[in-house]
Amino acid sequence: MTVEALELSPELRTALLGHARAAAPREACGLLIGRRERKLTKVERVLALRNAALSLSAFEIEPLDVLAAERDALASGSTVVGAWHSHVDAPASPSPRDLAHGGYSLQLVVSLVGPSLRAWRGIEELPLVEAPPRAT
Ligand SMILES: [Zn+2]
Repeated sequence: MTVEALELSPELRTALLGHARAAAPREACGLLIGRRERKLTKVERVLALRNAALSLSAFEIEPLDVLAAERDALASGSTVVGAWHSHVDAPASPSPRDLAHGGYSLQLVVSLVGPSLRAWRGIEELPLVEAPPRAT
């Protein structure tokens, strides 16, 4: 059985850590834009969106931002493949609250501890595959 994996370039990894550091002590959050090719989900862009949660240790992506991002992704021929958020002082695994959260089943958690990035579909961890940096 082939395992599902998430492909992320080093540049996007750096960008995510930057967003997470900038938002601390609050959690940063946003969406992953890209495409799914069979079992491989390729992330092409990451969006940092507004965190509407009042609590420091929670995130709730601003719903209007989600709608705008969905529309924007479709217009560029991509899709929203998942969501990401940061953990300021917890490991990069989803909290019970993250798992109960509706929305996207694929979640990338960026932990400032380490730092480390881990991808999840529910409680199943997805291997991260490094994409070659893109020449722009
Ligand atoms: Zn979380």
